[in-house]
Amino acid sequence: MRGLMQEHPLLVSSLLEHAAKHHAGAKVVSVDAAGAVTRGTWRDVAHDAKRLAQALARRGVGPGERIATLAWNTRAHLAAYYGISGMGAVLHTVNPRLFPDQIAYILQDAEDTHLFVDPSVLPVVTAIADRLPPSLRAVVLMGPVEARPALPVEVLEMEALLAAEDGAYEWPVLDEHEASALCYTSGTTGMPKGVLYSHRSTVLHAMAAIAPDVFAFSARDVVMPVVPMFHVNAWSIPYASAMVGASLVLPGPRLDPASLFKLFEEERVTFSAGVPTIWTMLLQWLRAEPARRFARPPRLVVGGTALPLPVTEGFLKEYGVSIVHAWGMTEISPLGSTNVRKAENADWDDERFLPYSRKQGRPQFGVDFRVRDAEGNEIPHDGVAFGELEVRGHWTAGAYFNRPDDPAFTEDGWFRTGDVVTVDELGSIEIVDRAKDVIKSGGEWISSITLENLVLAHPDVQLAAAIPVHHPKWDERPLLVVVRKPGTDPSPESILSVLEGKIAKWWMPDAVEFVDSLPLTATGKLWKAELKRQFKDYRLPG
Ligand code: ADP
Repeated sequence: MRGLMQEHPLLVSSLLEHAAKHHAGAKVVSVDAAGAVTRGTWRDVAHDAKRLAQALARRGVGPGERIATLAWNTRAHLAAYYGISGMGAVLHTVNPRLFPDQIAYILQDAEDTHLFVDPSVLPVVTAIADRLPPSLRAVVLMGPVEARPALPVEVLEMEALLAAEDGAYEWPVLDEHEASALCYTSGTTGMPKGVLYSHRSTVLHAMAAIAPDVFAFSARDVVMPVVPMFHVNAWSIPYASAMVGASLVLPGPRLDPASLFKLFEEERVTFSAGVPTIWTMLLQWLRAEPARRFARPPRLVVGGTALPLPVTEGFLKEYGVSIVHAWGMTEISPLGSTNVRKAENADWDDERFLPYSRKQGRPQFGVDFRVRDAEGNEIPHDGVAFGELEVRGHWTAGAYFNRPDDPAFTEDGWFRTGDVVTVDELGSIEIVDRAKDVIKSGGEWISSITLENLVLAHPDVQLAAAIPVHHPKWDERPLLVVVRKPGTDPSPESILSVLEGKIAKWWMPDAVEFVDSLPLTATGKLWKAELKRQFKDYRLPG
């Protein structure tokens, strides 16, 4: 017997409609590259998004057509998010900080027909003018520019496109399984791959994001996404905040601590999310002046790369700010897990929970985990054994765009994350490495991340990376590459001494090399692939 309930497709446009209709008082504040602040509401965003949809339709943009953006967290970008997906085209957000070659490759692969560009990012486009994809019909400027760029395609202005429309537009009733957005992985371990989200997956993912053990969003929140809107849909914040009618503060490209702190205070931000680098810099800046205190401590979420414990501890103990540690991937929309207490550890005090918060946590409903070792057997949940994390769920990719038969997908329908994890008795995962970065010595695995975390405890170490180097007998042995703190000169022996007694003897790195800096990817992650390339011909002493 079938249920007798109504059926409505889960559409991205319905999120915006809800916010504009039922949360007219919620504000949307936007800061541009020059620091100018624009104030408006979700209703204004809806009006702009509808006018943009009208303009795109007038230009003949059809269903499924890819429309790219190279932009920061601004209201114009938010209008593009909803206008493009809402009218049935596919929003393709591109990271302006990628290398020009990668941007050119991504635009070619996606076959975008329009490219929306924040004026401050225009040099990135002119740099690849000769490599723009043949599919590209126009570049749309998202704000005023001093001089119009010379480009081999039509150059339009978003403002003029919107001004020509009246906003009297009904969102089309699309099939919820149609694509709404396209995002490429940041390419930390290889060439970027496209992940194609659907309207359905996006709405379900937003519904999970607002849950109490994830972002805990409400209509009273003032949400400031510091994580960029080009980085996996800013972790769903543009959608999840509309779903609950939260106010939104879009900080633009200026993410220095002083600018962010000003927004936290003046806009009364209650929630923000970003990568560890952002919160590390903010903490250092706060500490520099005793007067720098939050009038109302916000809730923070951190993810994207491992969380430095001293930062969580500093925010909590010195500023009363609690940080939730989240794990995710482009392929998972991105939210996969959060480390929030359960019944079993609800009464742990901070001293006990803080070290535990280094773990990446447990999945929310809609995401399922499986961890298998090299033989394909599921590992015991003892917090020690490790294997590769596999995921399936309502917002997990089932295939890559333009790449059928990618080995990341198993025959029985799981996505292989490439992250190597342990699982403890409470079901919390802890990433011990990426499958491509584990050091395989004599057929056994050494976790590079464990070595790095331990070495960071040395007072003279600023950054550290453990990478495999070739060894005639063991195949691979660990080499530690270290950036010293300014003004210090530790010996290799002193560095290695912090590992003694904390790891199995055969995990001990064979050598330590000092460098001035470590290579980072465009999303600020340690770029191990490049570091390994630099040390490709390294010979171990003896
Ligand atoms: P890329 O894989 O190219 O870096 P993503 O931005 O999708 O692209 O990054 C996903 C990866 O980032 C995960 O597979 C994981 O290795 C890492 N990651 C994400 N969140 C965390 C976290 N909280 N702790 C440690 N690593 C994380």
